[in-house]
Amino acid sequence: MALGEFELIEAYFRRDSRAPGVIRGIGDDCALLQLPPGQCLATTVDTLVEGRHFPTGADPEDIAQRALRVNLSDVAAMGAEPLWFTLALTLPEPRESWLEAFSRGLFEAAREYRCVLVGGDTTRGPLTITIQVMAAVSPDRALRRDGAAAGDLVYVTGTLGDGAAALAFLKGDLEMTGEAADYLKTRFYKPLPRLVEGRMLAGLASAAIDISDGLLADLGHICEASGVAASLAVEQLPLSEALAALPDRRQALNWALAGGDDYELCFTVPPDRAGAVDKLIGAGQLIAAPVGRLEAGGGLTCTYQGRDFAPEKTGYQHFDSDHRDA
Ligand code: ADP
Ligand code: MG
Repeated sequence: MALGEFELIEAYFRRDSRAPGVIRGIGDDCALLQLPPGQCLATTVDTLVEGRHFPTGADPEDIAQRALRVNLSDVAAMGAEPLWFTLALTLPEPRESWLEAFSRGLFEAAREYRCVLVGGDTTRGPLTITIQVMAAVSPDRALRRDGAAAGDLVYVTGTLGDGAAALAFLKGDLEMTGEAADYLKTRFYKPLPRLVEGRMLAGLASAAIDISDGLLADLGHICEASGVAASLAVEQLPLSEALAALPDRRQALNWALAGGDDYELCFTVPPDRAGAVDKLIGAGQLIAAPVGRLEAGGGLTCTYQGRDFAPEKTGYQHFDSDHRDA
């Protein structure tokens, strides 16, 4: 059935958008939004292109989940609270079964993270999904990349390397079965934006970033923005059971260092506040591990049990000769 643009929006994307701060949602020329008093707008946008950021023919529910979650990960890395989002959808043809599954995944993630769809755009063309999230944060508590200093400790949340292992598995380059295979697939399509952790760290961490291109590349951004160097103790990198069980440990560590797609947070903490962070970790309120330290200078060095460790590569960059096609 041929579906017009307006019918499509009505059928799949217009839901009750009554929510804090939404003066006007979908259905007007602009959404009208009101930030909580004293907070500034933290906004971020990401585009997913079929064949480049997700495999051609991937499950639309998975794509929608991933698209929103990846954006929310950026919000988490600022210590902000997500409020609203917009969706620009480019579709080759409006297929109802595709739209039904896509909007189901989208609203499921939106509900889970309390983020309300307030507008968008719908066009015809190669399948492309752009989501912009708007969030609120107090300007003096926002976690920026440029706040770190020599002597600060480096931490990461959760486990690293799962995203890259999942991609290798989905492409057929890594053999995995049973629980580990399911775990990796979920990690890829449903990354966990560390929103609670980000807000817990706002006012405590000196800098933070979400790990989308690999720890080396993303910690590198903190180092560059803050004018410091970093040394990482590779044996301290937290690995999931699935990764720790791989026979090729060097591969697992390289994925943890440079694989990307993990959407964990990397954050730095001044020594006088490390006790407070360690207390949160000890109490089970924050799942994170110390992995290194910042020093004066620039660049990144890695050691494994005190000896130099040379990573295979330093991270994913779009438009590199080394680009991925997932
Ligand atoms: P305009 O011509 O003013 O850009 P549109 O016809 O593109 O308006 O959209 C009509 C309304 O539907 C707007 O409020 C817009 O924000 C919303 N909208 C369009 N596409 C989507 C979408 N994919 N998801 C959510 N809202 C959408
Ligand atoms: Mg429009």
